[in-house]
Amino acid sequence: MPQVPGWRGDPVWLADVLRAEGLDVVEFPGWRQRGHGDFKDIRGVMVHHTGSNSATAASIAFGRPDLAGPLSQLHIARDGTVTVVAAGVAWHAGVGMYPWLPANMGNWHTIGIECANSGTSPTAPHRRNWPDAQYFALVGSCAAINRHLGQPAGRTIGHKEYAGRAQGKWDPGAIDMDQLRRDVGERIGAVAGGGTPRPPVPVGEYADVLLYRGVRGPQVAELQRRLRYAYASYAGGLEIDGVFGPETESAVREFQRRTPGLKVDGVVGPATAAALRLRLVDG
Ligand SMILES: [Zn+2]
Repeated sequence: MPQVPGWRGDPVWLADVLRAEGLDVVEFPGWRQRGHGDFKDIRGVMVHHTGSNSATAASIAFGRPDLAGPLSQLHIARDGTVTVVAAGVAWHAGVGMYPWLPANMGNWHTIGIECANSGTSPTAPHRRNWPDAQYFALVGSCAAINRHLGQPAGRTIGHKEYAGRAQGKWDPGAIDMDQLRRDVGERIGAVAGGGTPRPPVPVGEYADVLLYRGVRGPQVAELQRRLRYAYASYAGGLEIDGVFGPETESAVREFQRRTPGLKVDGVVGPATAAALRLRLVDG
């Protein structure tokens, strides 16, 4: 676990804390440097829907013509992938109020979580159009952050609870916030005293994988994508060209060096592929 207690300052611990929760975490290149200045004390998390099922992490990192990114610190895709896009302040909350927040100051005191979801409608029942993977990644993210901050599940709020009156916001749509807080509370309790690492992926699933210098193709591109986005601290500059060249090899070696139990040989066989949770593609 990282050394930073996380009470004040920017949450540079986000990726580690989420990964320790067992979530599938991607570090968006440059996230540690991205933000509109520094947080004041971080008091909780605020949940949003993007308004579209297909909104990308990049759209949250870079923003829109009328509003510069980052638009939140986290993006959660429908497959449950949690992408950390910023460590600094993001424009997600706007004006509003909530008992444990100074009026209109949500951006400086809460970590924003944007879920790629249309929201369905303001009156849709709980979890309509929220896939399990996305919903439970949201529960895990809220739990991991609140636990890390030493705060209860009640420090999870929706944009609609903060800005409903002020801005007419209804996100996250189809989320009953009281039910979400109950689920977050259970998750915080279930792993009190530390995160639960994901169960190891059986190496057998990757028995056919063998990638090494000189190999080309979609599996190499997938390897490069995984390294670049999940291990951005040392592989963020890796080109995704499907060619296993010297840069790819050195990123693989670095991954192997940092992962206990792997041989550092620059070759992606079954054990390294399993540790990377490489997505297998045909061809
Ligand atoms: Zn929102």
